[in-house]
Amino acid sequence: MNLNEKSSSKKAQKAQKAISFQQYEKELYDLKQMLEVSKSLCSVLEYNTLVESILYVCLAQMHVLGAGMFVLKSFDSDVFALDSNYNGLTPDDDINYTIPANHPIICFFNEKNLAFTIDELRSEMKDADIPEQITSLEPTLIAPLKHKNHINGILLLGERIDLGDGIDFSEYDRQQVLSIAALSSIAINNATLVEMTTTDMMTHLKLKHYFYNVLAEKLDFSILNEMPISVMMLDVDFFKKFNDTYGHSCGDFVLKKVAQTIFEGIRDQDMAGRYGGEEFVVMLYNTDSKAAALVAERIRKTIENETLVYEGNKMHLTISIGVSEYNPEKRPLSAKNLVDLADQALYVSKNNGRNRVTVANEEMLNSLQKESEAS
Ligand code: GH3
Ligand code: MG
Ligand code: MG
Repeated sequence: MNLNEKSSSKKAQKAQKAISFQQYEKELYDLKQMLEVSKSLCSVLEYNTLVESILYVCLAQMHVLGAGMFVLKSFDSDVFALDSNYNGLTPDDDINYTIPANHPIICFFNEKNLAFTIDELRSEMKDADIPEQITSLEPTLIAPLKHKNHINGILLLGERIDLGDGIDFSEYDRQQVLSIAALSSIAINNATLVEMTTTDMMTHLKLKHYFYNVLAEKLDFSILNEMPISVMMLDVDFFKKFNDTYGHSCGDFVLKKVAQTIFEGIRDQDMAGRYGGEEFVVMLYNTDSKAAALVAERIRKTIENETLVYEGNKMHLTISIGVSEYNPEKRPLSAKNLVDLADQALYVSKNNGRNRVTVANEEMLNSLQKESEAS
């Protein structure tokens, strides 16, 4: 080796060292980022917020302009649906974005915990086995959300931003995606467990103890922000007759229908719970009793006008509702007081002939406070 060759070989070695140093620095940075991602995803237990966070992480970490996820419709569903928090992907209006849990692509990802492009999937699977629900979104990379051999969802990445290395995903990028997918899957699992333990399996509304916890939290927030919160108590009129006439499973069918109507009649920021048997409770966020009475009346009318068909039998039903308001400027109340007050108003609706809405008045509030002072 002459002097020139020696010096260029040294230069090459130096350059090589600089590259590996850069590479180490990048990997260290990415590891730190992944730790942050892990901390942030595992601290979110509210499902909707979690999905938003996962997709945001994908955009930021993988330098893509879009991301979306297919997740189970509910914890006891066997259908994956495109979560509405997707961004940068353009779904086709004519396609129903659901994939059954026994679809070949889910079985495929059950076997292979890897990230694929559409072309790679095409060569690995039969073309017919890749649903249009995925191809139509034109993802650049697809990865399973897998936890303990169980598919929690499918992650899709959108158009890639070219940061100078081209737009293809390297092996390293794919490992990054799989790490994000694995962390996301654990977080989804945790959120699902919380959802399961706080939800009534039959009606899919929240359980009483969880409802009280959230209501108490929102009341604290309401004091700070000086905003009203209302509570509705709803009870099916003469419910026993459905059980007695058509059997207990007919009663269950009626309860599910009423729960669905209540759920569809409120906003995302409100919360509906099953208080007990055929009684329901609703928190209406940032809503005074006047507005709450309108919501209650709308739900009451919807139920009154609905014809339910159970095993060929047409049925009609009505509900009675009581409404109470928490106004921190007037008189602060505990979560229990507020629900009890709505219950008193419900009692008045029942006594006045059922199928009506009653808003709790000052007199009811005074008698409730006298009762609680006495006890
Ligand atoms: P009112 O108009 O006064 O509210 O009369 P009601 O018949 O609706 O009320 P009552 O309290 O007399 O009866 C409620 C019944 O609800 C009694 C109970 O057996 C039934 N029930 C409670 N939980 C369930 C359930 O999960 N499924 C079914 N099918 N029935 C239930
Ligand atoms: Mg009843
Ligand atoms: Mg009752």
